[in-house]
Amino acid sequence: MPNRLRRMRRNEALRSLVRETHVQPNDLIYPIFVREGLEEPEPIASMPGQFRHPVRGLPTVVQELRSVGVSAVLLFGLPKEKDERASSSCAPAGVVQEAIRTIKDHNPDTVVMTDVCVCAYTPHGHCGVLNGEVVDNEQTLPLLAQMAVSHAEAGADVVAPSSMMDEQVSAIRKALNGQGLADTAIMAYSAKFASAFYGPFRDAADSAPSFGDRASYQHDAANARHARRELRHDVAEGADILMVKPGIAYLDIVLRARELTDLPIAAYAVSGEYSMIKAAAERGWLDERKIVLETLTAFKRAGADLVITYHAKEAAQWLTDI
Ligand SMILES: [Zn+2]
Repeated sequence: MPNRLRRMRRNEALRSLVRETHVQPNDLIYPIFVREGLEEPEPIASMPGQFRHPVRGLPTVVQELRSVGVSAVLLFGLPKEKDERASSSCAPAGVVQEAIRTIKDHNPDTVVMTDVCVCAYTPHGHCGVLNGEVVDNEQTLPLLAQMAVSHAEAGADVVAPSSMMDEQVSAIRKALNGQGLADTAIMAYSAKFASAFYGPFRDAADSAPSFGDRASYQHDAANARHARRELRHDVAEGADILMVKPGIAYLDIVLRARELTDLPIAAYAVSGEYSMIKAAAERGWLDERKIVLETLTAFKRAGADLVITYHAKEAAQWLTDI
């Protein structure tokens, strides 16, 4: 008797009965660019449908997300002032600190996550303090810790260090605990690869390095075992969530992370992934809705609990339409 795997694929009712992976709006995290001194939302040319937002526009953005079931956002700041020490990143009235307070005033139960890195706050655009042309790990750690504390003091629920400095998670955990902020969680950009998929983001966040690249601190795209070592380090340093970034070309890393730890795993569908889908959809080459839902399902099937995606609002709408 031949085995008939098709038996359970005969119709949608049967298929949905045995479906193994489900994506829900509350699995999604929406990244928001917030720019100091802006009056109106500013379209991002390389990311159709995405904007840099003024602080005062955030309650509306968050409300729209909440109305479709998305309850978490990840904030990226674009300050007016940049300097070598990234001073504006830690200012109590800095753009991200104001954004956190504004969101929490209007939507206190929204989960506010913040990117913790200095590249958008320094004129050179590298992710740490420079010593000549080298990013200095030890000098960068106190700065990241101070930035994380100032986000937590403003009300952030989760801080997300993305600079890929060694021991950034333990430095931040220690600083938060020392300031009575033990409840603030850390989402570690543990497996962040040096990637061409970030192209549109650098335009969006005005954070392209003025010289060189980030290969001396971000992972080499060829190295899965090395990424796994970093994931292990971040677990030991006290991370609450581990992140893999980019997403779709790194599903093997998501799977490895899933097998390594019981911590929640987040995958970041980065700007280049978003823009590729948008560009193809605009030309009628791909069905945007189907592609987005398929890729989100793939992230979860690989083992991600959470997906950070610029498609969060549309995807949540599509998921509730079904
Ligand atoms: Zn950075």
